[in-house]
Order: sequence, then structure tokens, then C-alpha cells
Amino acid sequence: HITDNENLRTPIVCVMGHVDHGKTTLLDRIRGSSVAAGEAGAITQHIGATEVMIDSIIERSGASGMKNNFIVPGLLFIDTPGHHAFTSLRSRGGALADLAVVIVDINEGFMPQTKESLQILKRFKTPFVVVANKIDRIHGWQPHESASFLETYNKQSERVRTDLDNKFYEIVGELYNSGFNSERYDRVSDFQRNIGIIPISAVTGEGIPDLLMVLLGLAQKFLESNLHYNASGPGEGTILEVKEEKGLGTTIDIILYDGTLKKGDTIVVGSLGEPIQTKVRALLKPNPMGEISAEEKFQNVESVTAAIGVKISAPNLDDALSGATVRAANPENIETIVKEVQEELDEVQISTGTTGVTLKADTIGSLEALVNELQKEDIPIRKAEVGDISQRDIIEVSAIEDPFNAVLIGFNVKMLPDAKEKAKGADLKIFQNDVIYRLIDDYKDWVKEKKE
Ligand code: GDP
Ligand code: MG
Repeated sequence: HITDNENLRTPIVCVMGHVDHGKTTLLDRIRGSSVAAGEAGAITQHIGATEVMIDSIIERSGASGMKNNFIVPGLLFIDTPGHHAFTSLRSRGGALADLAVVIVDINEGFMPQTKESLQILKRFKTPFVVVANKIDRIHGWQPHESASFLETYNKQSERVRTDLDNKFYEIVGELYNSGFNSERYDRVSDFQRNIGIIPISAVTGEGIPDLLMVLLGLAQKFLESNLHYNASGPGEGTILEVKEEKGLGTTIDIILYDGTLKKGDTIVVGSLGEPIQTKVRALLKPNPMGEISAEEKFQNVESVTAAIGVKISAPNLDDALSGATVRAANPENIETIVKEVQEELDEVQISTGTTGVTLKADTIGSLEALVNELQKEDIPIRKAEVGDISQRDIIEVSAIEDPFNAVLIGFNVKMLPDAKEKAKGADLKIFQNDVIYRLIDDYKDWVKEKKE
């Protein structure tokens, strides 16, 4: 019954999961196979994201009869930078991603980051599907390039199918332990009650048509109201990465999730200190003609409309913060917007100044996740900040007398060289890891040991 899809933006999809379970390979495959199939216009490469157009998805899933049933223009997959936790992907509304794909190696099963992904999705109430990846590694598997899952499954020997089914039900069991009912996607009748699991191979492309189709179905069902947006309103986005570019200085790669951003717009950018007020000097998209030289790497555009991944070149971006908000402003509302951007950051960066451990994380989103998990464990926090571990942190924390509070926990951060020097012989305990659960477990083990 919906025919007016002009103001429905592309849903933003995030791929999450344990390291090496296949996130990058899956995105490469989604990109590559469309390019290989020569589907002109099927894929648009963004900065930090890949857009798959609706026609291409429908074509690939062999469901062309359903073409008019879909109301979204396509799907925008975020290419989460490898060194960043997916947790950095926030927006003003909560989670930046409208939908998520949790990828699990079917041969390895659940791992710490799988569980962490599920916790975050639960907290943000983000609809998601699970893919059981690497089915081609099941012993005796006969690959059928890019086939739908059921087609390839039915062509496997009985032994292979049984093997897959057994591994599959272990994932169902693990999901149940995490508080989710799940079923193979083709047996799910109510995606609100049951999580759909799609067996795939990111290498052979088997099951990927099914994945794209299920994502469209979810978008259709759950997101319609979220995807209405004001295309002509002021631009609003989340910083994925702060990056130095040759000839441009410091730039920010953002996902614009609402409105339109124009060259010359005044923007407010979240930073470690006061929000930055600056002017968009250039909006840059990847140059489809290839990356011959730095100057030709990007294509300069006048304006961009959500949802899209774009690079912003502007003065004074050095202190911009990954995971923070970028908002277009005008002279009438700039003060309010600066205040709002500041408040968002203050909400996450705590400084109780009393007792507890000290936290450092790479982005606002990952800091928020870390704070959340520690609070669940009733671990008191003295201070929580974004940034690498600095000399100042070492000095501050080692000055704390209570040994249980002279603790520095770093999530996805480096220790700066002078901090390393200072830490030698300093009176404090430092934990560093890129998995929240490991940090918490290590900390708890250490506390237990120390108390004995
Ligand atoms: P990420 O850390 O989650 O991004 O994982 P990657 O995409 O880098 O994959 C880790 C390794 O698993 C790489 O060597 C991939 O080639 C391999 N891999 C990923 N997906 C598949 C799959 O479906 N089948 C097979 N056989 N290997 C895969
Ligand atoms: Mg990767």
C-alpha cells in the first residue's frame, strides 16, 4: 500500500562478529560479485560504506516478481574499519545501524566478540540476522557459486547436510543462551520473535542472495517508521574515522544518516574538548575512475543526502572524535547544537572524581559499551575518557593510594611512548585488550588474586 518511497532513506547495515569470522570477506563478496556480474549501477562505493541497490538485490535473489513490494532504495553496508570496535557506531538516535548482521564461523561457533555483538544489539534493540559463515569448509562440501542456500544445501550429500545441521543447532543453542530464540531463516514466520540464521559462504557467495533478501524483509517490516527522514533538512551524521589525507590535512569520514549536507555549510563536530565549529570546504566521494594519485582519489561534490558515506574536508578537524556527531548548523541554532553535541559526549565521558578504576577507549561508542559492561559488574569507575593512554593518565592513576583503584583499563587503545616509559616501575595496574569481556575477566581475576 506504500507507493511514496521518496522520503525513505537507505537502511544502514552493520556487520558484526568475532575477528576472522568473515566480516571483510562478506563485504568484499557483496561488492565484488555485483561488479563481476557487470551490473552497472548495482553498487555504489561510498567513503566507509557500500550501497547495494534494490534492483540488484532482487535480481540476485531471483525474486523479480516482488519488485514492487519493496519500499527501500537499497542497503548501505558500513565497512567498519578493522581497528575500530563496531561499538563506535552510534547516532543521536542510539545505534547508527538500522540493521545488523552477526557473523559466526559455523565451524568455530560463538566467541567473545560474538556475544559482545549480541549484547550491544540487545541494548539498542537493533533488528538483526545471524549468518553461519564458512559452510564451504564443511568436509565434503560441494560449492555452487552464488547459489541460494537451499539450492546448494539440497545438492549436498546426506552426511554433509547432517554435519551442517549439527553445527547449525549449536549456534541455535548459543543464541538461546544469550536470550534469543532462533531458527533457520526459511522456517521463521515471525522475525520479531525469532532470529533468522542464514548459512552462507562469504568465499563462494552461497547463501548471500538469501541474506540480502532477509535484510530487505527486515527493513520493510521493522524500519519503515525509522526510515522516514527529511531529505532537505540539515545534515546529521556520525564520524567513522578521523584521517590525515595528503594535500587535505585532517579529514573526517562520516556516515550521514539524516538530511542534506552542502559545501560551505557550517558544521558542529564532536571532539575531545569543546565541539569544533567549522565550515565544509569540500565533500568528497570515492572516484570511480580509480586511485591514480592522491588528487584523483576523490570526486568533489556540491552536496550529499542521507544515507551516504562521505569524506569531509574542513579546517580545524584535528581533534574530531570517532563516533561523535557532526551536525549542520545556522547562526540561529548553532549555540543550541554546540550544547547538544557537547552534552552527548559528556553523557559518556564520566569523571566522578571519587574512587574507582580509570577507563580509556578508542571511540565514544566503545567507551559507552565499556562503561555499561563495568557498571553491570558493579565495578566502580573514577574516570572514563576517549583516547590513547598518555603519560598524564599514568601519573594520575599511579598517584591513587588504594591499589584496587590504581587501575587503568584500556579498550582498543595504544599506550603512547612516553606513557610506556612512565609506566615502568610506576605503582599501578594496567589492563589492555580489544575484547570487553576479556578486560573484565582479567580485571576480576586480578582482584581475586590480590585479595587472597
Ligand atoms: P574478519 O576479521 O571478520 O574481517 O574476517 P575476514 O573476512 O578477514 O576472514 C578471515 C579469514 O577467513 C580469511 O582468511 C578469509 O579468507 C577466511 N574466510 C572468510 N569467510 C570465509 C568463507 O566463507 N569460507 C572460507 N573457506 N574462508 C573464509
Ligand atoms: Mg576484517
